[in-house]
Amino acid sequence: MCHDLALSLHHSMFIPGIERLATDEQKAEWLPLALNFKIIGTYAQTELGHGTNLLALETTATFDPTADEFVMNTPKITSMKWWPGGLGKSSTHAIVLAQLVLRGKNHGMHPFIVQLRSLEDHTPMPGITVGDIGPKLALQNIDNGFLMMNNVRIPRTNMLMRNAKVSRDGHFSSSGSSKANYATMILIRVKILSWASSLLVQGATTSIRYSAVRRQSQLKPGGEEMQILSYQSQQYKLFPALAAAFAYHFVTRTMTAVYEKAYEEIIGGNNRLLAELHSQSSCLKALLSEETCVFLETQRRSMGGHGYMLMAGGGAYLLGAMTLPTVEGENTVLYQQTARYLMKQVANALSGQQLQGSSSYLAADPEYVCPIQEVNDCRNTRILLDIYRNRAYGIVTGTARKLHADMTSGMEQHVAWNNNMIRLVRAGKVHSQYYAVECFVEGVE
Ligand SMILES: Cc1cc2nc3c(=O)[nH]c(=O)nc-3n(C[C@H](O)[C@H](O)[C@H](O)COP(=O)(O)OP(=O)(O)OC[C@H]3O[C@@H](n4cnc5c(N)ncnc54)[C@H](O)[C@@H]3O)c2cc1C
Repeated sequence: MCHDLALSLHHSMFIPGIERLATDEQKAEWLPLALNFKIIGTYAQTELGHGTNLLALETTATFDPTADEFVMNTPKITSMKWWPGGLGKSSTHAIVLAQLVLRGKNHGMHPFIVQLRSLEDHTPMPGITVGDIGPKLALQNIDNGFLMMNNVRIPRTNMLMRNAKVSRDGHFSSSGSSKANYATMILIRVKILSWASSLLVQGATTSIRYSAVRRQSQLKPGGEEMQILSYQSQQYKLFPALAAAFAYHFVTRTMTAVYEKAYEEIIGGNNRLLAELHSQSSCLKALLSEETCVFLETQRRSMGGHGYMLMAGGGAYLLGAMTLPTVEGENTVLYQQTARYLMKQVANALSGQQLQGSSSYLAADPEYVCPIQEVNDCRNTRILLDIYRNRAYGIVTGTARKLHADMTSGMEQHVAWNNNMIRLVRAGKVHSQYYAVECFVEGVE
């Protein structure tokens, strides 16, 4: 499994977290330790009570100016960190996301490096209660854990201060690039695109190879048994996933390039591309993770009884993929985040603004006439792309109109949002499908 590896969080979140959240001085201190495995780290954000609603996280980091230290606490049962990979048994350190409290004032969520276990004998540090959360459906090689902190003291300099600082006298300042914190979270969503993609490639390879060698039933009575891949229905099960595997490859490649370009700008203090990056990484993470699960289950079933064997591999791919719709932003929530961006873009277009990036198609009504004249047109990828664009345009702008009408009729904004949530999720999804097809068409061309 590409992401069922012990210590995977050390590589996927802890080291990239230091690289993106630490000052140069902090990087010089922590990176050599992490890269040489002198310390093992994880990323502790989710709490028992909250995963999606980050504003509601309860862990606190309260500055004590007399000692020049932060005092870390998880004050309630619901505030205990819950889920971080590698926390249960392996990690010696964690990047802990906590509410920064200075002189009684909350300055929002910030990252802190906390030592969890002794580097001598691996026992928990004073004030730390840590352990494994127990058996899961899959990913047994990753020791997901819980963490409670009771007045755990860390040096002030353990706050990762690239984007926001607390000075020796307890003064808070944030730099122009404070939104770079978000860019770090987005990174893992972009990585999920490639994990989903590689799981799908493995599933497609296994099921198509199996279907090439498996023979079952005759079409012609008394004739030779058919290679199951020759059945039209078997192709219908397997080939869309094969095409999707290529599409996902191109989506991943495009989004990785978009991320790298945007991140360079963001750390330079220019947040021009942040909203677009956030929107695209959200809906594409949701789309690829959701569809990968559906395809993998279809592939497993396409191998008949043998598909249910662990040794066939398909089940393991599926169980691994089943985490992806939940982690790093639950899919329904992510589609809504994209929809929120799209609703703003529709409003911007109506007010005469020039739209840039993936949503620029919302600027002009395509006055669509279906371009399909004959059956061969269905194989023309540019025509198909046109159809996807028109579909996205219709659903996104239709949702915006409905939302606007509800609010104009006196419905409060949050009520209108909830009453239109299914439409909004669909808007995020069709937008992501159009973008995925665009990446595919441009990739194969
Ligand atoms: C295998 C695995 C590994 C993980 N690893 C880590 C890790 O290393 N570090 C870490 O910090 N966390 C980790 N997590 C936690 C993960 O990030 C959270 O589980 C995830 O963010 C979802 O949050 P939640 O569990 O609170 O779900 P909830 O937000 O409670 O979701 C439950 C349901 O409520 C719905 N819902 C919630 N809010 C809304 C809304 N606004 N609108 C509509 N519907 C809504 C969701 O769609 C969903 O159906 C891991 C989780 C798993 C399963």
